[in-house]
Amino acid sequence: MGIHLTSRLFVTSDLGTHAMLALNPEQSHYLQHVMRLRRDDSVRLFNGRDGEWLAHISQVSKKAVELTVSEPLRSQKSEPNIELYAAPIKKAHFDYMLEKTTELGVTSIHPMLTARTQVRDVNVERCQSIVTEAAEQSERLSVPDIKKPVTLQNITTHWPQDRMLIVCAEWGDAQPLQTVLTLPTIKSTPKIAIAIGPEGGFAAEELDLFRGLPNAIFVRLGPRILRADTAAIAALSCWQSVCGDWL
Ligand code: SAM
Repeated sequence: MGIHLTSRLFVTSDLGTHAMLALNPEQSHYLQHVMRLRRDDSVRLFNGRDGEWLAHISQVSKKAVELTVSEPLRSQKSEPNIELYAAPIKKAHFDYMLEKTTELGVTSIHPMLTARTQVRDVNVERCQSIVTEAAEQSERLSVPDIKKPVTLQNITTHWPQDRMLIVCAEWGDAQPLQTVLTLPTIKSTPKIAIAIGPEGGFAAEELDLFRGLPNAIFVRLGPRILRADTAAIAALSCWQSVCGDWL
């Protein structure tokens, strides 16, 4: 079997030659009953720190599948540091946004509560499991961090000086994204974030809060109004292709 067809799992344990670990009940069930793997079958593991490793099933019991790590496959690489601040939207669309932005290499996702945010309860644990699965499937060596929901006001009050913020806004003083991505301040910054509003868009006072930040810049994504999930995917894709790791 080609190595890329070997099942791939995110674990929290340290990975190194001869390390042994027991999988959690969901992962044990997945390997045993979905993938139908048996003793000695191989699995690939990553933990976001030690790269990717080959492991073999050393024991299968009712309680857990146990693995023994054998050899390194890929070393950990530094990845672009790009955060997403997104107002939570209806579940299916937010789930889609989580999955697709993970595939596109987002570093962390910050649910941002805005004046027009309709959906205010975000199950962070569930979101974390969606991005973990997307990271496993997309061959990433890291899993994005899902943060607890925070208000837009709080975010703008504590915005760090060393991170540029691209605010996607369909009206007003927004510049075309392509123009902004070629600005030296954006191209060369090591830390960046993208902000996306809710279904009803940002309120005028919220745009003013962003406008008050010295390191925020407004962009538009063409002449059409995109759904928030499409906007996040479009902005991240354009950023990756001009400033990120698609080069
Ligand atoms: N209800 C808003 C309106 O009609 O003005 C549309 C909000 S849109 C569904 C959700 C979010 O996606 C917006 O707040 C913005 O962040 C982003 N977005 C959608 N289309 C965009 C565009 N053409 N340019 C920039 N941002 C856009």
